[in-house]
Amino acid sequence: MFDIHEIRSQFSILNQEVNGKPLVYLDNAATSQKPNSVLEAYNRYYTEINANVHRGIHTLSQLATEEMELSRRKIQKFINAEHDFEVIFTKGTTEGINLISYILTSELKKDDEIIISYLEHHSNIVPWQMLCERTGAKLRVIPMDENGVLQLEYLDEFLSEKTKVVSLNQVSNALGVVNPISEITAKTRAASDAYIIIDGAQSAPHFKIDVQTLDCDFFVFSGHKMYAPMGTGVLYGKREILEKLPPFQGGGEMIATCSFDRTTYAGLPFKYEAGTPNVGGNIALGAAVDFIERVGHENIQNHENALLEYAQRQLLEIEGLKIYGEKANRTGVVSFNLEGIGISSDVGMILDKMGVAVRTGHHCTQPIMDFFDIAGTVRASFAVYNTFNEIDILVEGVKKAKRMLA
Ligand code: PMP
Repeated sequence: MFDIHEIRSQFSILNQEVNGKPLVYLDNAATSQKPNSVLEAYNRYYTEINANVHRGIHTLSQLATEEMELSRRKIQKFINAEHDFEVIFTKGTTEGINLISYILTSELKKDDEIIISYLEHHSNIVPWQMLCERTGAKLRVIPMDENGVLQLEYLDEFLSEKTKVVSLNQVSNALGVVNPISEITAKTRAASDAYIIIDGAQSAPHFKIDVQTLDCDFFVFSGHKMYAPMGTGVLYGKREILEKLPPFQGGGEMIATCSFDRTTYAGLPFKYEAGTPNVGGNIALGAAVDFIERVGHENIQNHENALLEYAQRQLLEIEGLKIYGEKANRTGVVSFNLEGIGISSDVGMILDKMGVAVRTGHHCTQPIMDFFDIAGTVRASFAVYNTFNEIDILVEGVKKAKRMLA
């Protein structure tokens, strides 16, 4: 049974007023709120078992290690990885992509090619540009159409034996467009030996991830967008690849033996987890996985899709309102502008006065904004605790903003 009141009761932060109005939190693509069970897991770590992991013989260190490794196994199941040691803890998607682009440095040479798309977040653009600078490789960008749908015929055209990396998001944060990853991986496998990297920052919170079915080499996501604390994230990598590639950062935890003559590296996953990890955060990420699985992927998807459809239908009734990616297959996000109102933050400020939290601006996707020839959009993004009543308040707010600004 999907009981929205019961779900909302788990998020104490939602029960407050902002600017004298009940908070309507619709900035979930930036970061989601955290249920009490996640906060309790985090708090319990610091109040009961705080100790450094993996090195300690004492009881607290062993408890902390067990709990963090239990969380790793929960995440393994959550994304259907074959092995728990294919799950590497990071501090988020950005760190995951930078890590991958760094360890791939020696795999690329001059004139090799890296394929990304127009729909990417800056964190799936800039690390690849930096890799191009280091290696002389070239970036190729799959264009999109007016609806924010990738034009995959360009992927067919770009793919060749020169292609060494294909890195795309599963869901666009700026528009919510869902990319057909299985089709993309199949095309890529058929035409090249490229490493396939999926940015799952906006998909992991919304639908069931199966890295084996997706057939990707790497899958990265952020904990804080899926009900876990900030500073948590995951990099999944296929065993053979992670075993073959070099480490990223050097330091404690990632060595097997260290001397001035020669250092040998630890096995997976520790080879890629140098230094003291975010133990409390990683344990709480496991609690966030438990929360999602308790609610159920199907319930989450059905509810969020219904919210999106309801919001889109009502917003489109406002004259002069344009939704970017309106006709594309989308999840969790509606991104729009009002005709004649060039500055999206003006709309955002009026909404804030009504207690409605949305994001405005370029959403770290300037190429998408350039494509539509705009400076930014107003983006409302949904999580499992949002309600239809909150959408009504959003729509009322947008109408008010139109009256005030037009
Ligand atoms: N990729 C996408 C699609 C995102 O939405 C985000 C966060 N907005 C990122 C990458 C970067 O995630 P983080 O800031 O958590 O590292």
